[in-house]
Amino acid sequence: MSTSLIAMGVAAFLVINLVIGLGALSLLFGTFETLFGKPKITLLRPSKSGNVFAFGFKWSSSKEPAALDTIRLRLFNPFGSPTQVEVSKPFEPKKDSFALEVDMGPGFIELLGAKGFDYATIQIEVVSSKDGVVFQFDMKGPKFKKLVFDANQTVAEYIAKNGLDDKKKSNPPIDIPIRSFIADTVPGKGAQLKLATNPAFAGEFAGAAAGGAPAAAAGPAVENFKIAKVWIEPGCIVCNACEDIYKDVFEVLADTCIIRPNAPLDDGLRMQEAAEACPVEVIKYTVAS
Ligand code: SF4
Repeated sequence: MSTSLIAMGVAAFLVINLVIGLGALSLLFGTFETLFGKPKITLLRPSKSGNVFAFGFKWSSSKEPAALDTIRLRLFNPFGSPTQVEVSKPFEPKKDSFALEVDMGPGFIELLGAKGFDYATIQIEVVSSKDGVVFQFDMKGPKFKKLVFDANQTVAEYIAKNGLDDKKKSNPPIDIPIRSFIADTVPGKGAQLKLATNPAFAGEFAGAAAGGAPAAAAGPAVENFKIAKVWIEPGCIVCNACEDIYKDVFEVLADTCIIRPNAPLDDGLRMQEAAEACPVEVIKYTVAS
């Protein structure tokens, strides 16, 4: 066998081994990436122009738990002007992949408009100030500008596409005031207001009447009366107070309260008690003549 044939065989052997080795390495790194969830930042299209920077960020929060709360952009521009710009903005901590837009302030415009931007480097950091975690992405100026200006996916689209939870936006919390009753619950009757018109507390107001209190506070002297009509005006906050007091008349549904069909209208004192208990005063009635 000639020397050249041997040399060719050795070269072919080395090339084959090199190809196999590169393939194995590529597979290995691909597996690592799948296992550990490589952090990824996506630049998004903001809802308005100017200082607003929109982005989506995904990382393996189970492998690397952190409450991310700051976005930071740095421009390193040694051949241009200004030579360095840094802008950052805190946001509500995020413990899982998220997307949002933030107003970075006038520094963001200064950063984008820097002279010599094509030779600059941009560093994007997604930071957890509490946990000391920093995810850093470096890129050349032209690439950053292209990502900013070519972004066509909105924050909402990114959230929908990636199945990210955005309950806070779709269901803003409703501020329902807590109603405190001024009397203890009467056994078997539920919560009640301690009113002179409520027969359950009639005795407690008798003394006050003797001391010159208004006639309405006279307890036993107050006569019951009939109702001509009762209705609920808009604004019910479904606190259940009326139904607790007068279940035969009021029915509290998921988002409002209604008057039951054929509701009794002969206990005006109890109706008055329910109306006075309503924290938003939407129970209205007229007294039968
Ligand atoms: S009508 Fe008034 S008392 Fe009744 S549930 Fe609505 S807010 Fe509460």
